[in-house]
Amino acid sequence: MSRGFADQVAIVTGGASGIGRSLASALVRAGARVVVADTDGERAEAVARELGERARSEIVNVTDSVALRRAIEGTAAREGRLDLLFNNAGIAVFADARDTSLDDWNRQIDVNLRGVVHGIVAAYPLMLRQGSGHIVNTASAAGLIPSPATIAYAATKHAVVGLSLTLRAEARPHGVRVSVVCPGVIETPMVQTAKLVGPTRERVLAALPLRLHSPDRLAAAVLRGVARNRAIIPFTPELRFLWALHRLSPRLSLAIMGRWYRTTPFYRGRGD
Ligand code: NAD
Repeated sequence: MSRGFADQVAIVTGGASGIGRSLASALVRAGARVVVADTDGERAEAVARELGERARSEIVNVTDSVALRRAIEGTAAREGRLDLLFNNAGIAVFADARDTSLDDWNRQIDVNLRGVVHGIVAAYPLMLRQGSGHIVNTASAAGLIPSPATIAYAATKHAVVGLSLTLRAEARPHGVRVSVVCPGVIETPMVQTAKLVGPTRERVLAALPLRLHSPDRLAAAVLRGVARNRAIIPFTPELRFLWALHRLSPRLSLAIMGRWYRTTPFYRGRGD
């Protein structure tokens, strides 16, 4: 288990489920005190109870900048500081670009992008005053490589990678750290609950080019990456390979992803 988190104060948004829950649990095991922040108050409370006295829960909707600021500033006031903010809450819609409604675009922008912005706007000035702190944003493989059938999700995750690297460059001389986590496909409730437009979930899961990986293993890798202050924390060997290929030859990676798209149930031939 990663060292260096003893008595650190952390907030994990989207901490009631999946990756956030695994992050909160790994942080508590590593000695941190954690706020499990989520719209789902009941599940957040259950996770905090399970994690014991070093965890507490708060009902927070990351799309509400005032509520998220209150949670961040309240935690810092109560604990005396904020060491780690995991902007992790997110939602996904899997759909062909032509089937992605404006509402689907807006909901993903609100949670996945504005939610992260709200966290940064509240926590960064506070961390600047402290002269320390680490902001860890959860993006995705879809923030690094072209990912057909996720256009709005990919747009938000590319934005999260871009803003994280930009903030990292600015924050460094002030003693504040910024990392961005880019997981491949992780076995969380999102895989079953994300909105799908078009094909059945079974057909989509069968067509996935990446294997499903455990959120607990991802959380352990994230804490190692945070302890080493990595800029980008990619996870899963398949993603590392595809990302390396994309950097080497964007043309080849686009050709491969375009070819993969044509094997998915999202692709319907011309004229339908
Ligand atoms: P999940 O659905 O298991 O958990 C997401 C949690 O976020 C839920 O508890 C949900 O209640 C909470 N949430 C949703 N909207 C919220 C809001 N507006 N305010 C506060 N909380 C909110 O999903 P997950 O797979 O654990 O996803 C966590 C993050 O990881 C997301 O940002 C997701 O995009 C990213 N991600 C997931 C995968 C994957 O394959 N599961 C891969 C790459 C990246």
